[in-house]
Parts: sequence; C-alpha cells; structure tokens
Amino acid sequence: MRDLYTVLGVAKNADQASIKKAFKTLARKYHPDVTKEPGAEEKFKEIAGAYEVIGDEQKRALYDEFGENSLRPGFNAEQARAYKNFAGGFPGGNGGGFPGGGNPFGGGGGVRFEDLFAGGDMGSFFGGGGGGRGRVTKGADIEGRARVPFMVAVKGGEVQVPLRRPAHCSACGGEGGTGQRPCRACAGKGRKNMGQRGLIMACDECGGTGVEFANTCVACDGTGRAQSDQKLTVRIPAGAETGKSIRLKGQGGEGVRGGPAGDLVLNLEVDEHPLLRRKGKDLELEVPISLSEALGGGSVEVPTPTTPVRVKIPKGAANGARLRVPGRGVQAREGAGDLYLILRPVIPSGLTEEALLDALPLAQKLDALGNPELRAGLQL
Ligand SMILES: [Zn+2]
Ligand SMILES: [Zn+2]
Repeated sequence: MRDLYTVLGVAKNADQASIKKAFKTLARKYHPDVTKEPGAEEKFKEIAGAYEVIGDEQKRALYDEFGENSLRPGFNAEQARAYKNFAGGFPGGNGGGFPGGGNPFGGGGGVRFEDLFAGGDMGSFFGGGGGGRGRVTKGADIEGRARVPFMVAVKGGEVQVPLRRPAHCSACGGEGGTGQRPCRACAGKGRKNMGQRGLIMACDECGGTGVEFANTCVACDGTGRAQSDQKLTVRIPAGAETGKSIRLKGQGGEGVRGGPAGDLVLNLEVDEHPLLRRKGKDLELEVPISLSEALGGGSVEVPTPTTPVRVKIPKGAANGARLRVPGRGVQAREGAGDLYLILRPVIPSGLTEEALLDALPLAQKLDALGNPELRAGLQL
C-alpha cells in the first residue's frame, strides 16, 4: 500500500487547506466521468481513500501515529497506544504523537513527559495548531488598522473600519457539522485518563465537549467559523494619536462552540491635515494677513475646530508671530488644548511694475526704521 501523503502528493506537515486543494486537483483529473484513461478509476479510488484519511484531522493523526495499522477495521487507538507505551518502556507518558489537531509533538517515539507540559506548550496542546474540531475555544484576538481623519482625532467621532474576521460559517450555521454524537475517543465524557499517573485531561479529540459530528462541515472543516467581510463603526475619542490603539472587547474572532469572542485591537493611524499641525493637544494654524493688517493691526475671523473666532492682530505683527486661542485645540475629555495662530504677512502678488515702484520708497523707509541688520543671525 502506498503512503497516503504520496498518493495526494502533499508533505507530511501540509495543512488541511493544501490537502483539500491537492485532492480536488487530482480528483478532477482522474474522475471516471472526466477521463477515459486506463486505470483512472482505480487511481480515483486511491485518491479518494487517501483523502478520507488525510483530510480528516482525527484519522490523519492516527495514521501519523500508527501508520497503515490505523486503517484496519476495528483498530483501537487506546489499546495500540497502551501497547506502544508498554513496549517502549515509557512511564506515564505517551509513546507517540497525540491524536488531534495540529499534533505539535510530531510522530516519533521519544517524547519526554516534560516536553508535553513544560512552559508554553499547554497552549499549543489544547489550542491545537489547526483542525481542532469540536473544541470550546476563545475566539482569536484580531489586530487591525483604523485610519482616522485628522478632525475626528481632534474632536472625537466615528470611523468605519473594514474588517475581515471569523464569523459563523454560513454553510453549517456555525454548528460545524451534522449528526452530532458522543465523541468516540472519550465515550462522550469530554475527558481522558492520560498514562499511569492518574492524570485527567480534556479530551483533545473533541476539546472536552464530549461530542463529534457524523458529517463534518466541509466549508469550515468543523470549526463552525468562516471569514466574513464586515464594516465596523468604531467610536474614536478626541485625542487619538497615531501609534495608539483601541481594544474592543469581544469584537474579535468568534469563539468556537460557544467560547467567548476574542478582542479587536485597532492600531490608529491619524491622517495629516492640509492646514493644521498638531503638537500633543495643541494645534497650529498659519494665518495669512495683509501688509496693512500687519502694519496697522486689525480684527480677523479665523476658523477653529469648533466655531470660528475673531482675533485681534496687534499693530506691527511680525512674520511668524503667534496668537494663542485657548481651548480651541484637541478637544480631549480631560481638557482641551489650545490653538496657535501663526501670522504670515503676505506681499501682494500680481502688482504691476508701476505699482511696485510707487510702493518702493515707503518700503525703503520702513526698512531703515526697522532692523537694518536683517541677516545678522544668518550663520551656519
Ligand atoms: Zn472526546
Ligand atoms: Zn461550517
């Protein structure tokens, strides 16, 4: 009998998605309805037989552990394992890999007891790296990005976040399959005696639920979950900054088999603004003023994140002079920041040669009255 992985042309550690894909490709090629090639029917049966085992996490794990023996009618994994443990002289442990999803410990005989329970291994042991049908599992935490318009970060508001996340599988309504029956591995008890130390652990075939399916949902491989594209409306507090994140409890991946949902962690990315600059809770806005306003002072209306304000330009306002408008910065809950107006006197553009010549004597007079050492500080 050929090795089942070889039949499907996949690696021993291939995941279920690639196994399914390999099977579909081969099945299409050798299906008796499609090809008249001699021996195609035999080939098709061999492929289907291999997929029945390798495409099923439980059967696959037993095949990995016990090889062809696991395919014999009436094969009993517990007995085979007990025999193997005895033969291998391995106290209290497990001679080969564990059955069930992911099988993080590989096949071979020499798995030490400590390896199974030391450090962070428990997570992968119970969580199962893949497959894992039937388990009660907390949904995954999902990390995402939320682009936040500048003004939303300043005033607070809502953003729509496109999100691809696990949700109920629509094919099976989140059930994971049909024909629910007591788990054969644990006789429906949900727990198993491991080895000779009287250790009782959750059944890793059914994740402690005590049930399995006669027909596992193909769309979700029995997990009851599927990817779903959604749009989530997220409340952004005023003061949001790039680099900060928001954790939304229970908005992550759905739990499996009634487990709690995971969280959604949104990393914020605040957009730039064409006119406003932000420094912590304060904002800066450059305000063009005319030469006459700069020289003679005046009162101008400027927009702010909340309502427009009228500000007084002092006489002789220099380029870059700053005016503080209290409370018109970032509208943070614990106290609003300030808005700083940076005054930019503008030389009128589009003047004729004649107009420029007219204005020149006055400009020269002002230059002489002001600071004559204009470029004194220009040293590198
Ligand atoms: Zn079980
Ligand atoms: Zn499903």
